[in-house]
Amino acid sequence: MSSFKELGLTAAQVRSLIPSWWVDEVAQSEDGLLELQILLARRFNVSLGSLQERDPSPKFQATAPRFKTVHPDGSSQLAVAAGIGNGLAHLLSAAAEGRPILQPLSPQSLRAQLMKDGGAATLDRLVGWSWKQGIPIVHVTGWPSGLRRPDAMCMRVDQRPIVMVVRKETAPAKLAYLVAHELGHIMCGHLAAGTNAVLVDETLPVDAQKSFFDDDEKEADAYAIEVLGGAELDAAAKRLLGRPYSELSLAAEVLSSLKDKPLDAGQVILAWGRLTQEWKTANAALKYLQTMQAAPRVINDVARDEIDFDVLSTDGMDHLLKLTAMELPPA
Ligand SMILES: [Zn+2]
Repeated sequence: MSSFKELGLTAAQVRSLIPSWWVDEVAQSEDGLLELQILLARRFNVSLGSLQERDPSPKFQATAPRFKTVHPDGSSQLAVAAGIGNGLAHLLSAAAEGRPILQPLSPQSLRAQLMKDGGAATLDRLVGWSWKQGIPIVHVTGWPSGLRRPDAMCMRVDQRPIVMVVRKETAPAKLAYLVAHELGHIMCGHLAAGTNAVLVDETLPVDAQKSFFDDDEKEADAYAIEVLGGAELDAAAKRLLGRPYSELSLAAEVLSSLKDKPLDAGQVILAWGRLTQEWKTANAALKYLQTMQAAPRVINDVARDEIDFDVLSTDGMDHLLKLTAMELPPA
């Protein structure tokens, strides 16, 4: 376990992702050691051979990773994130077997599908719609402590795209933005099919000003904004400009201005924040809107209803539940 140090993982972080039944004495037998090596290889997406050397030196399996990092030392941390994400993605892909593989959609058609029964593009709808279209989404609530959390990742296992939201965040509107951004990467073809491509977004401009360096990020973000309301969202935020607000008056104004509009109040507040940079007020106003559960629970409650738990091995299930902090559905 300490050999993972070269990849930037402490032995304790590795240990946090192995099954609870594991006791170190088992590794004294050859079979027991092999079991541990197989588990670690799958959990972290490293090659089994690299763990079996006399001096183990874990090496990531070949994928086509693309790390969207702003930190010079970021990519080694993000490679670890991609490895963990990959292990989880294989489980989610198995748990979604038999679902359709969605063809790319324009953001306008995605929005139209989301809202065909009225209402707005909210987090629970986005996640529910994605699962039904064969795109599993979970929140990785149980990210190993001490390891840098990226905001989100998307990847393909065989043909199936999978989204993982990692950012610690309670406001549903912010995670809806992340989900829509990752769907943007998928729909715009940024994950080449059949290459086990992994895309890790370290930080996205959910509530901070940041300009993107590359075209894929701009494209995914434009897609997200369109799904979440596009020009209508922008207009609603602009109508709020020019007046001073407290967090409470901002929340009230947004709610009353949206009566018949198909927009999510949280998205309007985020859009207002992007225009004014008054994030303290915007973030506090978002708290007043929170009628749903904390955002990670919103995602994982949907996921729990959609996952086919019967196809998972005991260890696979253990791992999935640990990383998502989900509780098993009642039998
Ligand atoms: Zn991105």
